[in-house]
Amino acid sequence: MSIMVPSTTPALITPGRQALDSALHQLDQAAAHLGLDNGLRTMLATPRRSLTVSVPVRREDGSLDVVQGFRVQHNVSRGPAKGGIRFHPATDIHEVTALAMWMTWKCALVGIPYGGAKGGVAVDPTGLTTRELERLTRRYVNEILPLIGPEKDIPAPDVGTDEQTMAWIMDTYSVNAGYSVPGVVTGKPMTLGGSLGRGGATSRGVQIAALAALGRPPEGVTVAVQGFGKVGALAAQYLADAGCKVVAVSDITGAVHDGRGLDVAALRAWVAESGGVRGYAQADAMAHDDLFELDVDVLVPAALEGVITEANASRVRARLVVEGANGPTTPEADEILAANGTTVVPDILANAGGVIVSYLEWVQNLQACSWSSGEIELKLRELMLNAFDEVKALAAERGLTLRQAAHVIGVSRVAEAHRMRGLYP
Ligand code: NAD
Repeated sequence: MSIMVPSTTPALITPGRQALDSALHQLDQAAAHLGLDNGLRTMLATPRRSLTVSVPVRREDGSLDVVQGFRVQHNVSRGPAKGGIRFHPATDIHEVTALAMWMTWKCALVGIPYGGAKGGVAVDPTGLTTRELERLTRRYVNEILPLIGPEKDIPAPDVGTDEQTMAWIMDTYSVNAGYSVPGVVTGKPMTLGGSLGRGGATSRGVQIAALAALGRPPEGVTVAVQGFGKVGALAAQYLADAGCKVVAVSDITGAVHDGRGLDVAALRAWVAESGGVRGYAQADAMAHDDLFELDVDVLVPAALEGVITEANASRVRARLVVEGANGPTTPEADEILAANGTTVVPDILANAGGVIVSYLEWVQNLQACSWSSGEIELKLRELMLNAFDEVKALAAERGLTLRQAAHVIGVSRVAEAHRMRGLYP
């Protein structure tokens, strides 16, 4: 008698799993540098709460689709969990866990009283009608309702979500509570308690970090931006406004290049009208991957994780990489870039402007007040530059990269909070 051996498929290494491996590697480096004991390191490597939910969606033709949704609270020792919600077909529990972990270190690094969280739904929002998207959002929120709340966990926009998504989340939560709870999400429309400056906050932070890292006047500095969504488009705009020459940008539809400098406002208008950069007639089309290899001063990845890898890092010619996206550079690529003398301003520092102004929005909601755009901009700049100076000083003092230094600061603050609070029971 022969025994049937079930065929084994090698476990698939998803981009999400790669992102989590990168995040764990960065934590391990920081933990080793700080001499954290293995127990604490394991606590910090493990999310506090992870929820996977099924989200049934009624389609316009009457059929039913079921997609997976996630909410991960990585750490809440310094305050409520905080982090965006992503709608993307490739998202999975590993990616959401990595993004939640980076949120923990980011909030600690810039000194705002939050832990880290992230949410995701494995769906392509561009394939849904607005009504399908609303039903999906409301059902997903209903499934994660036990976890979220203004004192517990506060979502915000991320890839594939926007202020309309946040309005539906706020409404779904409020209907369940029986009264309006604006503080349950940030990145809301102004009319529902959104904050001035939140829409462009991440991009403004990218601009502040890039100019600080440049250390020379921005006039004529050449820039390439990968991703032309909420973060990338305004980062390009703000860098151009400051005097830089944005010579190339890309999005999911294509990439465009003009060595004399793109008219970023005109390109944004084209994208608003046509849905993507492809077909923009005032610039040359180029291959997606060529953008990373352009001879520019500054490269801003502002799309997804794992785009600068050991396969292309040695061909990156930019002297400065400013990470608008979370996790765009793998640890292997980091080593290659460092060896080649390229400075990387890491995600948890460079894109922290979004969560800083989210925090300011939340404080305004809790106090039922509103601050001027001048007050918001001042606070954003102060927190960004404080964090930048701290990271730069520690990197110089201990011979670390900016990413290593940023993680050492973020991880040490969270570890200190654990030590002070002690372990219950
Ligand atoms: P978004 O959905 O508004 O934009 C994403 C952009 O990336 C789109 O232009 C899309 O076309 C482009 N893109 C996707 N795949 C691409 C590819 N293969 N090549 C080129 N472009 C591609 O999302 P967003 O809010 O701008 O977020 C972008 C990144 O910034 C993410 O990593 C996110 O986690 C991070 N981030 C966002 C915020 C925020 O406030 N929105 C805050 C901090 C960090």
